[in-house]
Formats: sequence, structure tokens, C-alpha cells
Amino acid sequence: MRITFDGATQTVTGSQHLLNINGYNLLLECGFYQGKRQDSYERNRNFPFDPGSIDAVILSHAHIDHSGNLPNLVKQGYHGPIYTTSATAHLANIMLMDSGHIQEADAEFVNKRRMNTGEAPVEPLYTQVQAALVAQYFTPVVYDQPFEPIPGVNGRILDAGHILGSGAVVLDIEEKGHKMRLWFSGDIGRRKLPLIRDPILPDWADILIMECTYGDKPHQDPELAYEELRQVVGRTLNRGGKVIIPAFAVGRTQEIVYALHQMFESHQLPSVPVYVDSPLAVNATDIFKLHPECFDDQTQAFIRADKYHTALGFDRLIYTRSVEESKALNGRKDPMIIISASGMAETGRILHHLRNNIENPKNTILIVSWQAPYTLGRRLADREKRVRIYGDEYEVKAEVATIGGLSAHAGQDFLLEYALRVKGRAKQVFLVHGEATPAAALSEKLVEAGMDKPAYPQWRESVEV
Ligand SMILES: [Zn+2]
Repeated sequence: MRITFDGATQTVTGSQHLLNINGYNLLLECGFYQGKRQDSYERNRNFPFDPGSIDAVILSHAHIDHSGNLPNLVKQGYHGPIYTTSATAHLANIMLMDSGHIQEADAEFVNKRRMNTGEAPVEPLYTQVQAALVAQYFTPVVYDQPFEPIPGVNGRILDAGHILGSGAVVLDIEEKGHKMRLWFSGDIGRRKLPLIRDPILPDWADILIMECTYGDKPHQDPELAYEELRQVVGRTLNRGGKVIIPAFAVGRTQEIVYALHQMFESHQLPSVPVYVDSPLAVNATDIFKLHPECFDDQTQAFIRADKYHTALGFDRLIYTRSVEESKALNGRKDPMIIISASGMAETGRILHHLRNNIENPKNTILIVSWQAPYTLGRRLADREKRVRIYGDEYEVKAEVATIGGLSAHAGQDFLLEYALRVKGRAKQVFLVHGEATPAAALSEKLVEAGMDKPAYPQWRESVEV
């Protein structure tokens, strides 16, 4: 078997690994590379292999850095199956459409500038229509049920506990009379995350390819993080303020809705209206509701006991789709919670909610995820006193609260536990999907624990195993 690491190498973006087994090409993931604009454009457009030569694709989960280049793969000649769970296929459909919309808007923005300088216009990386064409190739598989992506390979997808539908990919391979097991972690989630089941750890593997995003950091317990959420929301509502939460539309929004539902149900918070104001979040929530098979026992029990039999709906929860409904919230003075995208407050409806509420000290802006440098979300999290929104400057008078510990990624402790499961058995461990510092930290811990130093492949590095 030859493994070529074509993405998420020494970085966290663009996950893509090519396996050549028995003369067939099996692609693990087809992620979108996100870096500087020109770099991303070139890298996503030019595959290091011929898309038409791929025999099958397996997708671990719907996040764009794992699925986002599938429209290009199809556009450039791949017309085979994309094996993944049904929940991932459904989520990927809406996320790819959203990404297509972003690519179109991005090309439009670049082309306006190019027109002024007399340069030829660029094509979007892919359009919404091209994104929609991926759906026909999704071949849903059930968790833990075997499938044969290419001859000689028996595949299974097991719970990764990261986002709805996410999985690790286990491949039992027979090649030239040799048998081996390859375990690809996908993105490793955490125990005790809301809604979804906990990750399954490897029992054994000959080859382990694993992510190491937080290889250098432990995470706070999710239960403590939700207790912080309750306190921040409680004190804001008690002083008659609004809580504005920028949140990723898929995953974090649903987790927070479920947490609030539980808190209202047990009277830990005063009952106020909660608005989920993001069309993508509303569509994603519909998909969550379609896939109770992905929920953990606790969530299933909660749903059975709930008067509407749902974790993601309650009496004062309103999902808004139209712009009019969204804008109508601007005039409201009563205490409420607004969850809106984008998660780093760069675009989308969250901007007008921030603009309308940021100068009132009764309100709270609640940051619930990591914020990339230079985003509005990061400026707020860094407690900047004045910020620009839609070109105008605003004084930050609202309380700003940040909650760590809600990450959907495993921290260092759990990554260690995960890798140690193959100690004494794996011939080779490859660390992917992580920057150099976390990879080195995890690597050091593994060596201390008696494992061989894992490999940390470079972009397009190819190894025979
Ligand atoms: Zn992910």
C-alpha cells in the first residue's frame, strides 16, 4: 500500500490522503484548503492527482476542511461513490452549497478589483450548482457496518464524537496475501459532548493516521463550560439584557440550543425567547432532527421525555429564516438570546445584531469558540474597546464573555489515550491535521510513554507501508 499525504499535512486545513492498494486509488477526504486567497485558489483547483483516476472516496465528516473540495473533484472528472454516514451526506450537501455561495461571492469581489486594473476575471472555485452535483455520489453507510470501497478493502465508519455524523475510518486491507488494518481518525471529538455519542478508540491497528490539532493543550471539561454559559446568560437576563452569541451554524448552534433547552426545562434560567437567526443553522438543525440515530443515550432519553419529542425545539425557541424576521429583532428591547452566524462575526446576520446591541451595557456578547486572528470575533474576545462594524466605529459597552472548553476536538490527554491504544501493535503512526507545535508536543508525550516517534509527513509525501 502506498499512502500519499495530499493535505492537512503540518497544518489543519485541506484534509486529503490518497491510498493506493491493489492498484486501486482510494481517497480519504477531499477537504478545502484555506489559506491566503491566491494560494488557496491554486491549491484547491489543482489536484496533485488525476481526479478521474480515483476509484472511491471515503469522507469522515462534513466540515469544509474535510469535504469542501468535493465539488472540484466531481467537476474535474470523479464520478464514483463517496462513502460516508447518511448524516454526514446530508450535512455536507448544505455546507457545500453554502461554500459554493461563498466561492461565487468571493470571485465577484475579486473580479470587481480586477476590472479596475484591466485584468481578466477569475472563475469561482466552484458554484452552488456545481456543489449541488456532489449529492448524487454520496453512498451512505451505517456506523460499524462493513462496505467494500475497492477490491481487497473492507471499510467501516465508527463514531468519532466530533460533529453529527462524524466518524473514524477503519480499513481492513488484504494485499498480495498480506493483511493489515489502517485506522484513520478523521477529527477526534471528545467524551461528554452534547447530543452525539462519545468517540470510539482504536482497538488495534497496524497503521494509525491521526489528527493532532490540540496535541499541546488539554481542554476544560465540557460540563464546566456549560455551567459558565448558564452563569453568563443568567446574569445578563437578570439585568434585563440581551445575550448575543456568534456561533458556527453547524454543531455549536445546536449544542447551545440543546443546553439552553435543558436549562429552561430545569428552571435554571428565566424563560425568555431564544432566536436562532441564520438560514444555514436552521437548515442544519432540520438535518440534526432527521438523524436521531446519531444521538447519545442521554439525548435520546431527553427526547422521549420532552413534550414535543425533540432536543432542538422548545416553546420560546424561534428559528428565523427571512431577513425581515431577522431585522424585526432590532427594535425589540426585551431580554432575549440571539444565536447567529458567522461564528467569528466576519459576515452574516450576526453583524447587525452586534451593531444594534454592542453599545448597551445591559447586554452580553458571548464568544463560544476559538476566534481566528484579525476577525471581529477575535477583537471582541481580546476586549478591544472600539470596533468597526459595516465600516462604522462602535464603542464596546456590552459585557464580553468568552467560554473555552466547548471545543469539538480532543485535547492532548485524549489524543494520547487514543494513540496509546495501538502501542506495541502499530508499525507506524502518522500525525496529520495539526501545526508543528502541537504535533511535536504530542509526539514527545508518545515517546515518553514508550511508543516510537510518530511520523509527521510533509505535503505530498508518499510512503510505502
Ligand atoms: Zn472537523
